[in-house]
Amino acid sequence: VEQPIHEAVLGRAAEFGPAPALIDGTDGTTLTYEQVDRFHRRVAAALAEAGVRKGDVLALHSPNTISFPVAFYAATRAGASVTTVHPLATAEEFAKQLGDSRARWIITVSPLLESARRAAELSGGVREIFVCDSAPGHRSLIDMLASAAPEPDIAVDPAEDVAALPYSSGTTGIPKGVMLTHRQIATNLAQLQPALPSTPGDRILAVLPFFHIYGLTALMNAPLMQGATVVVLPRFDLETFLAAIQNHRITGLYVAPPIVLALAKHPQVAEYDLSSLKYLVSAAAPLDAKLAAACSQRLGLPPVGQAYGMTELSPGTHVVPLDAMADAPPGTVGRLIAGTEMRIVSLDDPGKDLGPGESGEILIRGPQVMKGYLNRPDATAAMIDSDGWLHTGDVGHIDRDGWLFVVDRVKELIKYKGFQVAPAELEALLLTHPGIADAAVAGDRDDDGNEIPHAYVVRQPTAAGLPEGEVLMYVAERVAPYKRIRRVTFIDAVPRAASGKILRRELKERT
Ligand code: ATP
Ligand code: MG
Repeated sequence: VEQPIHEAVLGRAAEFGPAPALIDGTDGTTLTYEQVDRFHRRVAAALAEAGVRKGDVLALHSPNTISFPVAFYAATRAGASVTTVHPLATAEEFAKQLGDSRARWIITVSPLLESARRAAELSGGVREIFVCDSAPGHRSLIDMLASAAPEPDIAVDPAEDVAALPYSSGTTGIPKGVMLTHRQIATNLAQLQPALPSTPGDRILAVLPFFHIYGLTALMNAPLMQGATVVVLPRFDLETFLAAIQNHRITGLYVAPPIVLALAKHPQVAEYDLSSLKYLVSAAAPLDAKLAAACSQRLGLPPVGQAYGMTELSPGTHVVPLDAMADAPPGTVGRLIAGTEMRIVSLDDPGKDLGPGESGEILIRGPQVMKGYLNRPDATAAMIDSDGWLHTGDVGHIDRDGWLFVVDRVKELIKYKGFQVAPAELEALLLTHPGIADAAVAGDRDDDGNEIPHAYVVRQPTAAGLPEGEVLMYVAERVAPYKRIRRVTFIDAVPRAASGKILRRELKERT
């Protein structure tokens, strides 16, 4: 794909004209395709007039709003690379990202302005802070719509120029800045679209954050490229989420496993009319097949489809196509998309390729592999080998028909007396206990220094007295002896990243 990202996504905006592109799920404010197209061009002109130049980095610091895509595509049209920032980042974390990415510009929203100001002060390199809404002393996107400046005519080199600089989730360490070119993002959209098509009548609920690559792709770029309507929620709150599905007649849901869990288990779900839903896709973390089945049965939907990817892969490589959701084997994350190669290699002998049914590390090669980590040539070299294979750090296997199953991350496998135990499998099992609301499993050490599985369990309010012994027994009766849970800690909530991943580092700090 040889178009800059704003062209790849909004190239058909004129054709979709008066159709609603974005709807604010809380107050109903709507932007049509014609408006998104016109507005992002005006804002691009105003940004260029304010001094934004090709190659500048602009930090977009906002929860999901209907202005977010306008700001994003305006910035890329002005030639900037957009680094998306977690809206709840502390000023110190934000300042680190500003410094690492050498951002010169910030677009934020007034409720977050103080944090943005403080971060800019700490980092020192920011020339101006713009706001999407309005705030005294700051130029706003609304003022910019009136700009008479000429639209910038930037020559983008899709193969080289970085469109987005998202940071990885930081599940396994410090988040890393990931350089994704216009071509990488646009190509991956084109690769995923045939499997997950949407039409102008579709209504997609943007409940996962746009700042993370999954939300950016599945909830912003992909639906807008195809003329669908995106209903935007600023954060996940079960009631608001269910009400939005009902009131906006949402047709497609892209979520992470914690939302599948809520849909499968929470009593409130039954109070809403969710009959407009046609499909549900989960990605970003392991999803157990039984939990997925409980969710789809309860909602009367085809089986939950999954997708697999990572920030470094722009982000997708595997998906269960919409038209195959009914027939795909339970638990699969999908089939390899076109134009992408995969190998599965032995964990003990990385030179050895494995066949169907054998689990090993997943390696990927294709046009969506990142340009590299920002400022970290060593980390880039450790991730992408000299033949262009990206080492995902994930363990998985395919079946004879090529469906991929992800077991867990290599780093999170627990080695118990020489056997490998996948935390994801034990977590899924724990969730089948009626007294358990949520659970996480991580490696720990026993008194002799051996690695053991340690469960962190959130009890259902109705099972406040659930004892450790029962949790241990429940698992012991259902798994091979080496997989047994050896220790239980009861906690109030499982710490998760915004993308839905369990933060096992934080669990370990708690005990
Ligand atoms: P960091 O790299 O900073 O430690 P992260 O790997 O969590 O954080 P992301 O790029 O957001 O950052 O996540 C990619 C990871 O998410 C994959 O490597 C994989 O472990 C996990 N993942 C994504 N989709 C799935 C899926 N369908 N099933 C299981 N795991 C998934
Ligand atoms: Mg990662």
